[in-house]
Parts: sequence; structure tokens; C-alpha cells
Amino acid sequence: RGKRAFIAGVADDHGYGWAIAKSLAAAGAEILVGTWVPALNIFESSLRRGKFDESRKLPDGSLMEITKVYPLDAVYDDPEDVPEDVKSNKRYLGSSNWTVKEVVESAKQDFGSIDILVHSLANGPEVTKPLLETSRYGYLAAISASSYSYVSLLKHFAPIINPGGASISLTYIASERIIPGYGGGMSSAKAALESDTRVLAFEAGRKHNIRVNTISAGPLRSRAAKAIGFIDMMIDYSSENAPLQKELSAEEVGNAAAFLSSPLASAITGTVLYVDNGLNAMGVGV
Ligand code: NAD
Repeated sequence: RGKRAFIAGVADDHGYGWAIAKSLAAAGAEILVGTWVPALNIFESSLRRGKFDESRKLPDGSLMEITKVYPLDAVYDDPEDVPEDVKSNKRYLGSSNWTVKEVVESAKQDFGSIDILVHSLANGPEVTKPLLETSRYGYLAAISASSYSYVSLLKHFAPIINPGGASISLTYIASERIIPGYGGGMSSAKAALESDTRVLAFEAGRKHNIRVNTISAGPLRSRAAKAIGFIDMMIDYSSENAPLQKELSAEEVGNAAAFLSSPLASAITGTVLYVDNGLNAMGVGV
């Protein structure tokens, strides 16, 4: 049978999550997605109204099918963690079972198991502030939404990921090099995510025979990236300075994710794979 993938962090057709879903679908996988609760209504209604049909097109001309959309807020592990103001927020009231534990329970009930887990989500409320001006709250929120969310998703999903399965997250080079403007503790969160990729590769490899890798992606004009405010500059910088002087397409990251989650990558785990036109290898801009 074909593989089944759960992709956390898809709420429109502009981001890496959507492109990864497409590449996995093109390779024959069944697609489940986890969509941030506040973005759920607009995503589902846009899907229903055909707004994404053009970008659902796969190379063979068919349209990507999303078997099920799960509401998800990866900042909460189970219902006891959810504060009253979130519970009673009208954007959350219409949905249920969206904490990590509940989403995994629902997926288990619906499908029994999955083969591929993708984490394509990040959030840092103070991302536009330099680290020196970041509050403790902002820093911890960035780590919670962007790093621990992955630990939690993998921890809860691992028991229902079939042996030989794979897990992938998305990171950014600001974890290891200074990228002014990527603030609010987001650089710290990506450093944690990369370190966790190694430790989780060991633990999930030994315990569940699951591979764990992360893709360090170049700049893409996604919704999240536009919120940071410097994305056009980063795209121009890359086009000027990277070994490959072209704009990076989300599909190139999607294809790398499909490779990493396939048997072609059966000996690859614990790695950070750069999919960035080679920009990471440059020492100076020329
Ligand atoms: P995106 O906006 O498509 O994806 C981010 C998603 O995270 C959104 O769908 C948002 O709804 C979701 N999200 C935020 N908080 C959440 C929560 N608490 N629970 C569940 N979902 C939540 O943007 P993207 O740029 O494609 O981001 C995907 C991943 O790629 C992120 O990890 C990002 O850091 C990484 N990345 C992006 C770039 C870039 O230039 N765009 C570069 C390198 C890495």
C-alpha cells in the first residue's frame, strides 16, 4: 500500500508545508494535514470553494487530495494545558480535539498508523524584535511553538509511525549564522530544533526505527515569512550571492522532503540538509 503522511503546518498554498504535501502526493502518499485552529475555517472554505485547485495540480495532471484536515494547536499537548481564554476564544470554540495528544488519538482512530510526519510550523510573537529586546515570554513562546511542538508531535506520533518511517522538520540558517532581523528567539528556536533532530534521531531510531531529519531551507515568500518583514531582501540577497543564482521554489524543498522520507534515504538520519541554492556554503557575498 502507499504511504500515509501527516503534515503539520498547512494553512494555505504558499508555504513549505503545502509544497511538501504536493511532492509526497505526487510520489503516491496519502495526505493528512494539521492546520492551526485560528486558520482552519478560511483554509477549509478556500479548499471547498476551489481556491487552491490550480495549485493542487500534480505533475500527472491530477489534483492533490487531502484525505483529512485536522485542527491543531501544537502549543498545547493535552486539554489540561489549554488556558481558559483560549478555550473560550471564538476562533477555538468551533473546533475540538486540537491538542497534540488528541490529534494523534483521532488520527489513530481514523487510520491506525502513518509512515511520514512533517513539522512545517513556527511562530514567534516577537520575531521582529532583536534578541536583546526580546522578553522572556516572547522567547519561550518561540521555543514552545517552533521547537517543543516538534518534540511533542514526534513523541505522540512515534507509537503509530510504522517502523521504517521518517520524520522531517524545517529549519533556517539563522540557527548557526547571524541573520539580523530573525529575532524574538526564533534563531534560538531553530538551534534547538537542529540539536533535537540529532537527539531524536538517536532515540526514535533505537526505539521505533524512525528516521529524523531537518531541512534548512532558503527564503520563501510564505505567509509566515512575510510577517517577519525582511523576506524580499533575503530572496534578493540569495539570488545575488548563492552559487545557484535563481529564486528557490517551494517545490524544490518539497522534493527534498519526499526524498528524505523515501527508502532512497534509508541510511540518512540526524542530518540537517541544506536546500538553499548553496547559500550556506558561501563565506562572503560576491
Ligand atoms: P507558513 O506560514 O506556510 O507555515 C507556518 C504554519 O505554521 C502556518 O500554517 C501557521 O498556521 C502554522 N502555525 C503557527 N503556529 C502554530 C501552532 N501553534 N500550531 C499549529 N500550527 C501553527 O510558512 P513557512 O515559511 O512555509 O513555514 C514552514 C516552516 O518552514 C517553518 O518551520 C519555518 O520556520 C520554515 N522555514 C521557512 C523559511 C522561509 O523563508 N519561508 C525558510 C526556512 C525555514
